[in-house]
Amino acid sequence: MKPKTITLGILGTGQLGRMSALAAAELGIRVHVYGPDKDSPAEHVAAKSYVGSYTDKKKLKAFAQSVDVVSYEFENVPVETARYIQKIKPVYPDDKLLEIAQNRITEKKYLNDVGIPTARWAPIYSPEDIDNAVSDLGCKNYILKTTRFGYDGKGQTVHRSSDSSKRSFNKLGSDELILEEMVDFKCEISVIIARDKWGKSAIYGPVANVHKNHILHTSTTPAKIDPKIAAKAKRTAKKLADAVGLIGVLGLEMFVTKEGTILANEIAPRTHNSGHWTIDACSVSQFEQHVRTVCGLPVGDPTPHSAAVMTNLIGNDVNKVKEFYETKGACIHLYGKSETRNGRKMGHITVIKPLKKPK
Ligand code: AMP
Repeated sequence: MKPKTITLGILGTGQLGRMSALAAAELGIRVHVYGPDKDSPAEHVAAKSYVGSYTDKKKLKAFAQSVDVVSYEFENVPVETARYIQKIKPVYPDDKLLEIAQNRITEKKYLNDVGIPTARWAPIYSPEDIDNAVSDLGCKNYILKTTRFGYDGKGQTVHRSSDSSKRSFNKLGSDELILEEMVDFKCEISVIIARDKWGKSAIYGPVANVHKNHILHTSTTPAKIDPKIAAKAKRTAKKLADAVGLIGVLGLEMFVTKEGTILANEIAPRTHNSGHWTIDACSVSQFEQHVRTVCGLPVGDPTPHSAAVMTNLIGNDVNKVKEFYETKGACIHLYGKSETRNGRKMGHITVIKPLKKPK
């Protein structure tokens, strides 16, 4: 008798898809990937790759028919694409979470509606809206962001209450923006949560994140924060995952304020850069959880066996990899990208150490 094999389809062909495909291979699950680029990080390790646009229904149909279930590895897959595929094969996480996470206004509104606090914010469609929001919110400094397609600090500008609202509005070249209070945070943290079809979840973190030029630089775990704040951050991610009925993995980025309040900043409806350390410091990584949950398998144990510091290799940082070949506890991950570009995530290094026993 032939054993039943599962084939997972992943929309998107970047490093997150690559690491999910590698985790899938270890579970005997095949992965077919779909994306617009040839010679991509995920294509190098997938059983099959489809190169096509996210609007090419003929190719999308062939891809969907070749797999048992579909997921995605980046949040800008058009919602219409997910809905089209959903008519052919199940898609996890579903289109609802994808839609919420794609627009910073729907994202912040959803978080607040389910009782998760965020920085104060207002939707902006004109320079006058900025003036009105500044007088309503009464903060000194703000961040003005495009509502869609912003990542790694792209599509953002600082707006001071004394700045010209017209100039700030025109700077971002979009007619739908969000104005957020600039949070004077103590630290940035994130929690990664996996949730299976039975509603059982596995939680990683919180992880302490440091950004350089708006791009994640390091993630450290365990994060040196008050255990009460850590427990609250986990509860916040669980509340969100339960509210959206998550099947899959999501990352929740949060600010810890100087007063000890947690404010949610961003939802990633997928595996998250701040969870890469889980490959080397846990018996079940966030990527394995992703594959398990979307393929209808139960979540695994997320308990870390080691402490970890993950450092991204951005652009030419990739040349520093040589320094780590002989470093104790260093786990090297390169994404096989054919071109090094400024600001491009080329790989990461996770250095693991034994966990300190609690006193
Ligand atoms: P985002 O694209 O929203 O994840 O923002 C990228 C980075 O910009 C965050 O990780 C923070 O370091 C910073 N940032 C974004 N929004 C705010 C905010 N409201 N207050 C302070 N810093 C922010």
